[in-house]
Amino acid sequence: MDKQSLFVQVANLEERIGELYVELGTLKQKIQDLIEENQRLQRENERFQAESLDEAKTLETGSAQDNLLRIYREGFHICNVKYGSLRTEGECLFCLSFIQKS
Ligand SMILES: [Zn+2]
Repeated sequence: MDKQSLFVQVANLEERIGELYVELGTLKQKIQDLIEENQRLQRENERFQAESLDEAKTLETGSAQDNLLRIYREGFHICNVKYGSLRTEGECLFCLSFIQKS
């Protein structure tokens, strides 16, 4: 067997291993980036879920008066005269007195 040829083969193999090693390093970095991105997204998702849960709780636990006031501000009657209908003439004295009473 030709010693020169063997030496060239080993050198070539060494070069390919070197290239594979670099490729492996790049892949490891990509995996690391993906893991970090995934963790970030998970944390973000947990935060959003917690926030929307808090919002839902706030809405649930808001007092009846808060809810009525909110409905009134959104433009609906809360008085027993026109309860639930759209307020078309601005403020309603019946609603306002109802809010003050409650
Ligand atoms: Zn009203």
